[in-house]
Amino acid sequence: MSGSHKVGFISLGCPKALVDSERILTQLRIEGYDVVPTYEDADIVVVNTCGFIDSAKEESLSTIGEALQENGKVLVTGCMGAQADSITDVHPNVLGVTGPHAYEQVVEQVHTHVPPPASHDPFVDLVPPQGIKLTPRHYAYLKISEGCNHRCSFCIIPSMRGDLVSRPVAEVLDEAERLANAGVKELLVISQDTSAYGVDIKYQTGFWQGQPVKANMTGLCEALSQLGIWVRLHYVYPYPHVDQIIPLMAEGKLVPYLDIPFQHASLPILKAMKRPAATEKSLQRIQHWRHQCPELTLRSTFIVGFPGETEADFNELLTFLEEAQLDRVGCFQYSPVTGAKANELDNHVPDEVKQERWERFMQTQQRISSDRLEQKVGSQLAVIVDEWSDERIVARSEGDAPEIDGLVYLSAHSDVAVGNIVQARITDSDEYDLYGEIIDE
Ligand code: SF4
Repeated sequence: MSGSHKVGFISLGCPKALVDSERILTQLRIEGYDVVPTYEDADIVVVNTCGFIDSAKEESLSTIGEALQENGKVLVTGCMGAQADSITDVHPNVLGVTGPHAYEQVVEQVHTHVPPPASHDPFVDLVPPQGIKLTPRHYAYLKISEGCNHRCSFCIIPSMRGDLVSRPVAEVLDEAERLANAGVKELLVISQDTSAYGVDIKYQTGFWQGQPVKANMTGLCEALSQLGIWVRLHYVYPYPHVDQIIPLMAEGKLVPYLDIPFQHASLPILKAMKRPAATEKSLQRIQHWRHQCPELTLRSTFIVGFPGETEADFNELLTFLEEAQLDRVGCFQYSPVTGAKANELDNHVPDEVKQERWERFMQTQQRISSDRLEQKVGSQLAVIVDEWSDERIVARSEGDAPEIDGLVYLSAHSDVAVGNIVQARITDSDEYDLYGEIIDE
């Protein structure tokens, strides 16, 4: 990653302004910006102003003046920004002014003056390529840690971002609560390895709403489940302690969905990738989870054509797919990433072989995914509405993460709005998507 991407943020004013600040900061964090506490360290400073009473206006103006003097690159947003002249008359050098609830524009302005970190890398990015676009207001990514303790040979994240650094549990929960209060109905928990959350801070207990919460994945999930919104987990390793969160899914407290990047199934390839080589155990664990929580949707990603992958290794991967019966799967053809250890491995796979294996992989998985979707026809599912028009409604079930999984297309219905969670009857399916109608309550 080149360049610096550090943002300073000053939030003045009421809880509503804080909610805006939170959304801006959440978005910047998932895009890879660092939020820093001093003017000196920041590449740009955002001041979220309050214009409620005269003394608040004065405080806002003097804070903007201080930020200009100490840093020089300043964006202004918030209530006082609704009357841009009141700011630019005093401080003509600010780089941009927006009003309240303008988080999309603020993030765009930050992009203009401090471009976001390097380009998309499909092997390791936490959010889909479209994720750089702002999320709609009814869902949000919640980043719980930075960096990674693994050393997968195809990945350069640890050399760029360092070892795992977990955010304190109370800070994560406060952010989640503010997002929920701001109208977010679905949180997508992300990190390089969500199941490792807290290991670096020795699972230190924090306090949230007056209660102790242990900083590990289970403690965090239990607390998040109290928010009464959908909570979806991404990038979970199939470690034994993941078993503890399956009951929360079975009880309806967490979305019954796990995104587990298996990457491969053949032991020599997993070893060359420097990934945990425990395919047999993974299969047993999947069976056990499905037994405990039959609604569980499993998503994964794989790499085909990794250096040294033989036809036998690849066939093992196809067998794994058949046995695991995963619901949703993404697959990349291996390509070298500058600086990654895997580049030094022998026996790189020719491009045409990669392509041919990728096609076989996709054919196999498409059949599995489409069979699994077909089993949902006739059932009733909770869905969240992403788009609404007079002609149709586009929604997602609990088994569909935004951008990467499928959709549920529903006949038009006048009584629902974007962000509503409603019950739908599923009437049809294809390889990726479901079709149905809303059930009137
Ligand atoms: S788990 Fe592996 S692939 Fe993911 S960030 Fe860590 S080193 Fe990279």
